[in-house]
Amino acid sequence: SAALVWFRTDLRLADNPALAAALRQEGDATALFIHETDPALRPIGAAARWWQHHALERLGRDLAEIGISLRVKTGHAQAVIEAVVKDAGITHAFWNRRYAPAECDHDAAIKQALKQAGVETQSFNSHLLVEPFDIATGAGTPYGVFSPFWKALRQRDNPSPARRPASHRKAIPVPKAGFDTDYAEPHWAGKFHDHWRVGEAAALDVLDRFLNERLKDYPEGRDIPGKDITSQLSPYLRHGEIGPRQIWHRTLAFAEAHPALAGQAEKFLSEVGWREFSYHLLHHRPDIARKPMQEKYARLAWRDAPAALEDWRRGRTGIPIVDAGMRQLWETGWMHNRVRMLVASLLAKNLLIDWREGEAWFWDTLVDADIANNPASWQWVAGSGADAAPYFRIFNPVTQGERHDPAGDYVRKWVPELAGLPDQWIHKPADGPTDVLRKAGVTIGKTYPGPIVDLGTSRQRALDALKAL
Ligand code: FAD
Repeated sequence: SAALVWFRTDLRLADNPALAAALRQEGDATALFIHETDPALRPIGAAARWWQHHALERLGRDLAEIGISLRVKTGHAQAVIEAVVKDAGITHAFWNRRYAPAECDHDAAIKQALKQAGVETQSFNSHLLVEPFDIATGAGTPYGVFSPFWKALRQRDNPSPARRPASHRKAIPVPKAGFDTDYAEPHWAGKFHDHWRVGEAAALDVLDRFLNERLKDYPEGRDIPGKDITSQLSPYLRHGEIGPRQIWHRTLAFAEAHPALAGQAEKFLSEVGWREFSYHLLHHRPDIARKPMQEKYARLAWRDAPAALEDWRRGRTGIPIVDAGMRQLWETGWMHNRVRMLVASLLAKNLLIDWREGEAWFWDTLVDADIANNPASWQWVAGSGADAAPYFRIFNPVTQGERHDPAGDYVRKWVPELAGLPDQWIHKPADGPTDVLRKAGVTIGKTYPGPIVDLGTSRQRALDALKAL
């Protein structure tokens, strides 16, 4: 017999039940990753593709150490798998499940085809604490509100992750050309290397460092974008170099050893819970990235404002914290959560530009661009989502900046042309007195743009449009 393990968003060895099942089989085991071209699937964005490339290279090496060779192919998944099955004499195929309805249909069709070809298949959960079809309200319906969902999830047995598998196989050589050989590193990604260490070992390090150094400050510190307090685990979770069960387990073990930090640990786990909630929504709402979850939002008259959209994308809105966020995104492929909310609110509310434009830009530029978290979070900010921010909640990015970045550290880092401004004007440079601006080397309209939108009147315009729904 020969086993196939099909990797997708689970690029790790530990807590990987599909890999463990393949290793339990007698005979050969082959690992496969497919860059899928099937039109029903959402194509990966460019920044996430960069991450995926390096994660695959790492995975290929880690698998070679336990004697398993990784093949990376491009094409329609079914055709690729059928060819590998034939070539390697596969008798058993294993994979970990994914949850977008289109992905589920797609995988079910492949399962059926393999069955007909005499291949035994089995799928597992590695991506979630609780799969969307495994939890429901008392009435048996999907959850639409986070708190009861989280309460129900929290009361379940603690999921325990599986260890990195032992293998009796001998290490095999790593191919000189690497594994993901069709990828050419784009020029804009050069700077990503300064910010990230990709791979399963790095993910575990990041988690341990977070628990030991940052967790104690997490509940308040997580809203201060100028400080590195959050875990920055999101890209590892997106690509599955770490799984939520591992995070859950290690965090609870840490809290047990440090009882004074139990409250902080709960807060952190509840954020991981939001990811679970997003997947719950994704599974039950097939069009989450295209259709507003609340139907009335389909009637909203979005503005067509290509120049403003481009200014937003490039971090030239003249609103410092927004520009800082959009530039952090461009430079690193990641943005702080508080700032994600502010930039999204400016786009979907003050600028009244369709949230799907913002979602698409994030999809292309985030290394953690996630099929569930990204659309669910955009709909949350836009107000059209499940359990969304109320329509009248329109962030004021200036007062938000003053509250969460009081000394302007975040703005100074990402918008260096404003670095010389005193704290008082760092979040509203266009209001600063001329002599202060001159001393700081800032000329509005020249070294830094004036605000592309008036926050007061645009807020009212959004309120009117939303109220009319
Ligand atoms: P931590 O605070 O350390 O949290 C740990 C983990 O919990 C995160 O890695 C993430 O998996 C999960 N998490 C935390 N906050 C949220 C949240 N609000 N919603 C869902 N899961 C959460 N997250 C993505 O992973 N991918 C996306 O594409 C994405 N797009 C977003 C778009 C918008 C407009 C907004 C407002 C938020 C988006 N988020 C997305 C959620 C959140 O901003 C990120 O998960 C978080 O900033 C990642 O940083 P971290 O790992 O340091 O978070």
